[in-house]
Amino acid sequence: MKYVLVLLVVMFAIGLWQHNRRQVHRGDQARRAPPPPPPPSPSVATAPQEMVVCAHCGVHLPVGDAVNGTLRGVYYCGAEHRLRAEAGK
Ligand SMILES: [Zn+2]
Repeated sequence: MKYVLVLLVVMFAIGLWQHNRRQVHRGDQARRAPPPPPPPSPSVATAPQEMVVCAHCGVHLPVGDAVNGTLRGVYYCGAEHRLRAEAGK
């Protein structure tokens, strides 16, 4: 009979503990503020871009705007400078 009583007390304690835990968890969720919106991802315009130099006139421009030359690593500011440079100046 003693053991049954101890078992009942232990089960009651476990039930109370689980009930409290659930309440704390729910309280946490309610109290927690919604997560702040993620910072705006850097747009293409503000992201750092590799700069290259026109092999004909020497102007600096982003690699995305440059025209590739036939030689690797040679860039031009436009098709006209590429034609002029590769036609032999
Ligand atoms: Zn140029």
